[in-house]
Amino acid sequence: MVAKTGSHYEVIVIGAGVAGIYQIKRLVDLGMNATVIEAASGLGGTWYSNRYPGARFDSESYTYGYSFSKELLDEWHWKEHFSAQPENLRYLNHVADKFDLRRHMQFNCRVEAAHFDEAENIWRLQINDGRTLTCRFLVMGLGLLSIPTLPRLEGMESFKGRSFHTFHWPHEKLDLSDKKVAIIGTGATGIQVIGEIADKVGHLTVFQRRPNWSAPLNNGPISEKEMAAIRADYDEIFATCARTPGGFVHEPDRRGFYEVPREERVALWDRLYRTPGFAIWLANFREIFMDEKANAEFSEYIADRIRQRVKDPKVAEKLIPKDHGFGVQRVPMETNYFEAYNRDNVELVDISETPLVRVTETGLRTSERDYDVDIIIYATGFDAITGAYDRIDIRGIGGQTLREKWKDGPSTYLGIFIHGFPNLIMPNGPQSGSASTNYPRGIETGVDWCTALLKHIRANGYVRAEATQEAEDQWTRHVNDMYAMMLMRRAKSWFTGYNSNVAGHEEGRFRPMIYNGGAPKYVRRINRVAGNDYEGVTFSGAAPVASAAS
Ligand SMILES: Cc1cc2nc3c(=O)[nH]c(=O)nc-3n(C[C@H](O)[C@H](O)[C@H](O)COP(=O)(O)OP(=O)(O)OC[C@H]3O[C@@H](n4cnc5c(N)ncnc54)[C@H](O)[C@@H]3O)c2cc1C
Repeated sequence: MVAKTGSHYEVIVIGAGVAGIYQIKRLVDLGMNATVIEAASGLGGTWYSNRYPGARFDSESYTYGYSFSKELLDEWHWKEHFSAQPENLRYLNHVADKFDLRRHMQFNCRVEAAHFDEAENIWRLQINDGRTLTCRFLVMGLGLLSIPTLPRLEGMESFKGRSFHTFHWPHEKLDLSDKKVAIIGTGATGIQVIGEIADKVGHLTVFQRRPNWSAPLNNGPISEKEMAAIRADYDEIFATCARTPGGFVHEPDRRGFYEVPREERVALWDRLYRTPGFAIWLANFREIFMDEKANAEFSEYIADRIRQRVKDPKVAEKLIPKDHGFGVQRVPMETNYFEAYNRDNVELVDISETPLVRVTETGLRTSERDYDVDIIIYATGFDAITGAYDRIDIRGIGGQTLREKWKDGPSTYLGIFIHGFPNLIMPNGPQSGSASTNYPRGIETGVDWCTALLKHIRANGYVRAEATQEAEDQWTRHVNDMYAMMLMRRAKSWFTGYNSNVAGHEEGRFRPMIYNGGAPKYVRRINRVAGNDYEGVTFSGAAPVASAAS
């Protein structure tokens, strides 16, 4: 058990990303004694860490920003439709400064353990700087993509050049010109990096295990005039996001796939291919997600686009996924990605044919040959959704560890509560409405809901709130059932808990990580729960929650 010393707060929020920033704003507004504990040296989470070239939104910038403050909406000018990391980080810092939130945040503090004290109904936190902190309620803003994973390759420490995961891209400027660079991984991040650096490096070798479907982002600048029009339209933009399943501005084409003649289907796809953002994925026919034949026809359309853009037919075929259809996992959006392979200085190595054997002092060795390089970039993704939870020693009632409880995948009530772990709430946890959607829209929903819950608890003087086992079982079953309707259940992706770089998350172990019912349905459900006196949650204690930071 974490020792009984240190400061006490009514609420501790872990994580100063998009979720933690908004959560602390709402708590401060309520006058709650709350603090944010953040492992990094600055705020911003995803946008603080991922500084690799090409890191940018795939959400339209103006649908990604917070919607809670009209003043903020009116004063911020998004410069691009899909804004890049430096601007996104500037935005989040601007928000924190505008609302004076930084003084409620503690940086360079990693929460190593969180143990629930059943006698006192409080959480005891062990921080890596040696302190212990306590709180009545623990709010998890840990991030679902905040723990990078490296490949399990021999000899990684022996490499004499520079190597890093994209999440740890150096903060100082890195000159890649004249450098021989290797990149491992062609997921969402790899695709962004490759498109951006192909014409800036001496030589680039791309090590690809499995190709991903990808389509043009079609990014562009936002002029003053266009931004003014966006500002005038914000109410409608957010209303559209609220009614679409993905929380984006793209609404599905509600016509039946088979009722529309083939030429019209292709005409729609031609238009969507030129449309910015996720339109190609989310404004498509709904059958793409559920009907194998429809999905195969559309996947072939995209495959042809790749064949048109990549000059060498053999390379083009290697870039076309054969093991899954388009859109059954979050679609990486690209800029100049396929054209990169037409360049003389870019080489594709298919490591499904010639596997990587090890890292050497001078580069990488496949089963076929050695590749000598100056820099190795690991674009090898994240221990997604539950990784940040697994990294903390979280213990609930009877000392049960969350790691053990979730070893076969998360189980939650609404993605917000975990039975056996009272007073721990997740505004955007595993199985909540966030992960499969435009995150910040889901985050605002989750934070607002959790804030109302905390208000309710405070008004009633409760000291303990916990989901029932029955409510958790029912929700987790529901999340599971949703996958049954979707083609994504067969994809090897973080939506199904697959990651070959994480022990126990290898092939064949399906985990119901995310809620697939869509944002509107999720919002209706959590609002109904709140309206029914938080059905499925038991509250206890009537003593006023009085606490002060010592
Ligand atoms: C490269 C990239 C691009 C993305 N683009 C989009 C996009 O366009 N649209 C979209 O909707 N989503 C996108 N996402 C998803 C993105 O993660 C979310 O949009 C959003 O930033 C999540 O915010 P968050 O606050 O939940 O988590 P994060 O931003 O991940 O923040 C979590 C914070 O918690 C901290 N933390 C974790 N564990 C601990 C601990 N034990 N102790 C202390 N602190 C801890 C971390 O250091 C981190 O700062 C992208 C993700 C990546 C990686």
